[in-house]
Amino acid sequence: MDCNVIMDLLPLYVDECCSEESARLVAEHLDACESCRKIYDQMRETCQSFEEKPNTVKLRRVSDWKASVLQSVMLFVSFAIITLGVILEGSTPTGNTNGLWAVALIVPATGYLLSLANWFFLRVYKNRKIFSVCSCLATLGITLLGYVWATIHYAGGIAMSSPLVWCGVVMSAVFCVLSKVLSNQYALLLGRE
Ligand SMILES: [Zn+2]
Repeated sequence: MDCNVIMDLLPLYVDECCSEESARLVAEHLDACESCRKIYDQMRETCQSFEEKPNTVKLRRVSDWKASVLQSVMLFVSFAIITLGVILEGSTPTGNTNGLWAVALIVPATGYLLSLANWFFLRVYKNRKIFSVCSCLATLGITLLGYVWATIHYAGGIAMSSPLVWCGVVMSAVFCVLSKVLSNQYALLLGRE
């Protein structure tokens, strides 16, 4: 069959719109004719990229949305813990229990909350791994600074034997792990390698 006739049929063939008889003829010709096959491959590729694009964009939007939710939820959680800590600390009478709620709740949650600022600089990082490690280090660093502040602020001394001190240590560790895992998840949702 003539190549020109095949060219006329090809768009229909790619869209799967031609009759069975024509489809068979085109398929036979494509098997035998390399130049037509090349054009057919190109047509199919263009067609596929057109079909795939809307889906990819849709998927992207859903992921972007999830990343924003993740960030907002973590902002809210850490802020809620800080508020709770401030309320509890405020209702503690002056004495040797001073600063315990700050150590247990306020400092770890503040460390995490402030380190979330790093998430806004995701694009600066070379890859997801470096980003998540840096987020974790930021949480750890800010938390340690928070403890230095608490030690100075509660100069009267914090009752180190209190279980609340251990609560603070566990809380800080949990926040550091969360920082690593969730920042990685955040970057993943935004399509970072
Ligand atoms: Zn041909």
